[in-house]
Amino acid sequence: MANENQPLIFEQSKKDRIAYSLPELDVPAKPVYELIEKDYLRKTEPELPEVSELQLIRHYTALSKRNFGVDNGFYPLGSCTMKYNPKVNEVVARLDGLAKIHPYQDEKTVQGALELLFRLQENLKEITGMDEMTLQPAAGAHGEWTGLMIIRAFHEANHDSKRTKVIIPDTAHGTNPASASVAGFEAVTVKSDENGLVDLEDLKRVADENTAALMLTNPNTLGLFETHIQEIAEIVHAAGGKVYYDGANMNAIMGVTRPGDMGYDVVHLNLHKTFTGPHGGGGPGSGPVGVKKELTPFLPKPLIIKKEDGSYGFDNDRPLSIGRVKAFYGNFGINVRAYAYIRTMGGKGLGQVSKDAVLNANYLLKRLSGNFEVPFKQFCKHEFVLSGSRQKKLGVRTLDMAKRLLDFGYYPPTIYFPLIVDEAMMIEPTETESKETLDAFADHLIEISHEAESRPQIVQEAPHSTVLRRLDETQAARHPVLRYKNPLDTE
Ligand SMILES: *Cc1c(COP(=O)(O)O)cnc(C)c1O
Repeated sequence: MANENQPLIFEQSKKDRIAYSLPELDVPAKPVYELIEKDYLRKTEPELPEVSELQLIRHYTALSKRNFGVDNGFYPLGSCTMKYNPKVNEVVARLDGLAKIHPYQDEKTVQGALELLFRLQENLKEITGMDEMTLQPAAGAHGEWTGLMIIRAFHEANHDSKRTKVIIPDTAHGTNPASASVAGFEAVTVKSDENGLVDLEDLKRVADENTAALMLTNPNTLGLFETHIQEIAEIVHAAGGKVYYDGANMNAIMGVTRPGDMGYDVVHLNLHKTFTGPHGGGGPGSGPVGVKKELTPFLPKPLIIKKEDGSYGFDNDRPLSIGRVKAFYGNFGINVRAYAYIRTMGGKGLGQVSKDAVLNANYLLKRLSGNFEVPFKQFCKHEFVLSGSRQKKLGVRTLDMAKRLLDFGYYPPTIYFPLIVDEAMMIEPTETESKETLDAFADHLIEISHEAESRPQIVQEAPHSTVLRRLDETQAARHPVLRYKNPLDTE
């Protein structure tokens, strides 16, 4: 990389060097800080680097090149649906009438924005097969929690207070048990059978009068379609529980089938995954929640409604609502992007998205299945899980292979998840990648499997081409160092 030897911005600092040049002021100066109350003003000067504009630009450009996103290259991070973010969505989200309105504006002045949100609600109801929808939750996990609070309110309204447990498969995403816990439930595990699907006998054993809900993605986190979904729903319903759809895997079935037709009662969607919102940097997401009729009274308020006179507004008159879960309109900009995407694709187009996502995943699975262990043999949906167990015997771990992929310019797949697969490698190519990209990726991964046999060290010591080699990821998460400290400073 070009700028790696450039000293850090603080170390380039030279006293009185500045990053702008403007003509001298010919009016009396009035510093902005005179407008700020004295108590709020800082007492000491900030220690900022003093650099030229060019140095500053090079600094930020160098930083931006260290990042990796879908606009840089293939990003097969399983479960995350890192598909291309169409730029037309960005144009739409930046329209003044959408980007520059204020959440406190009178609803009469933001009718267009409300109509867009209302239409998005209607579209998502159609896509999921649900009766009502809220756009408030800010992400999938937030949607899970919202959905569980709705289910909790439903049981409470029925004076059914024994329902303290939420059943979750052993393959589930970590947010499922976390959301259950935050919503005040106890998570109970249901096992997977030898085909990687919910074990019906085990489900019958755990579903009882204490069951509040079952949380289940479909296809599940192994990328496999739960073919017994209707029977699963019947077992949970017979026990008096509700069935929750974790919609993170919607990219496999959208426009083909609907959770509402499979027996699900509550759904969340990840608009930043399936509906092309840019994500991955911890930026804003959107996790709308849809419910069947019986649960609509408990949805967060307000709902966005179309009134009898044809105008749009808020329905706040919802006495059984769990209350507001997010300020104002939810993450409005992401909702705008999702609406633009839905309108661009149309119903047929969305169905084609899912079919192509499934085709791409099966193509890649087929290409890799000679060189890697495939724990579940059936067709996959939009993603699949390989095991690195063959390579582990040679002393090369899945982590090593993931790091080696960085040398070839790829973001690695999700690894060591789901937990039930030894040395798991979870690959989701998405529909937006070409056959050439899939072939090149397969060639590289196969090459790595050959390296594992002939010269394992190069894989074990990867990556070789990145700015930093291997990070202590646990320490980075637990004790992040967020502030630069000049090594020349003595404290
Ligand atoms: C991404 C994901 C979630 C959580 O969604 P966020 O939007 O990241 O909060 C939940 N379940 C599954 C299967 C996921 O892939």
